[in-house]
Amino acid sequence: MKDHLQTKDWGLGLKGHVIIAGPCSAESPEQIEKVCIEMKKENMIPDMFRAGIWKPRTRPGMFEGIGEDGLKWMEIVRHHLNIPITTEVGNAAHVEMALKHKVDVLWIGARTTVNPFAVQEIADALRGVDIPVMVKNPMNPDLQLWIGALERLHAVGINKLAAIHRGFSDSYDKRFRNKPNWSMPIHLKREWKGMEVINDPSHIVGNREGILETAQRAINFGLDGLMIETHHDPDNAWSDAKQQVTPAALKNILSQIDFKDTLGAENPSEKLKDLRNAIDHLDDQLLDILQERFSLIDQVGVYKREHHLTVFQSDRWKYVMESRTQKGVEKNLSEKFMKELLYCIHEESVKRQEKQLREAAAVKK
Ligand code: PEP
Ligand code: MN
Repeated sequence: MKDHLQTKDWGLGLKGHVIIAGPCSAESPEQIEKVCIEMKKENMIPDMFRAGIWKPRTRPGMFEGIGEDGLKWMEIVRHHLNIPITTEVGNAAHVEMALKHKVDVLWIGARTTVNPFAVQEIADALRGVDIPVMVKNPMNPDLQLWIGALERLHAVGINKLAAIHRGFSDSYDKRFRNKPNWSMPIHLKREWKGMEVINDPSHIVGNREGILETAQRAINFGLDGLMIETHHDPDNAWSDAKQQVTPAALKNILSQIDFKDTLGAENPSEKLKDLRNAIDHLDDQLLDILQERFSLIDQVGVYKREHHLTVFQSDRWKYVMESRTQKGVEKNLSEKFMKELLYCIHEESVKRQEKQLREAAAVKK
């Protein structure tokens, strides 16, 4: 576990839940101004303003971003809202331009995180610069690639880091534009203590209707903030029109979210402590039972060896799997959980018995 990082001192309110909003792409000075004015009118000022200047598009010929000119329009945001501004960088030239125009926070997009050469190029361009960087998950669900990108940035001295969960490309699951995998940000937080993970429901869902539900799930799982694409006229946006919401709709979404208290869990109440003590006690019992079960497994292994039986016995496995799964489901445990648990236990059992066979064979020799 990496706990040497300082990710809490950005001064951007990450200790609560950070809200990042703004259009998918900067389109014109008028568009940026209209978004800002709407935000002000609705009293929906986010903690940070996002706008894509360089857009990585899957196919050529689509709007690929306004380029450096768009960075000059960020002054409009500063004038109206006076909040930090973030944009996506995909190479060293983008970094140079973003720094020249005093962008406050950078993010690395999903299509860049997959490529260690590109991430390294960005990291090298940032050596010695003190700027927060957010790293979106790669297109494919590869935790190591995501962590690797964060490490490349950390290695050049960037310690104001955060991650963004924007889902993973999955052409078979049509429910999402990019399928969320809630274990992934949790794994990341387990591996890298203090790493804050922001959720981007806009790119996960790909439409307006599902944003609230996905954002709520992210908060339930303990994610630290939300990045939601916001446009004054979403239907006519130059990119990602279907998923952008107006500032008024954003306000409505946020008002319905039940923001959980992540800090409270660090100082548990007596009640929470009691419940956790009871769980600790049960876990001890669970381990005792597992120890006893594996000792029986080892004895069965001896029997199989003496009677020249194979370690894997399909009828027995079928019986164990079906009977336990059914019992588990009756006890309100999900079928998926039961199957995964039984696979895990069975795999360990088979490995132990096969090891016994190898060891006995080695003694004979
Ligand atoms: C974006 O934020 O507009 C974007 C292109 O995101 P992603 O890298 O997640 O596709
Ligand atoms: Mn977008």
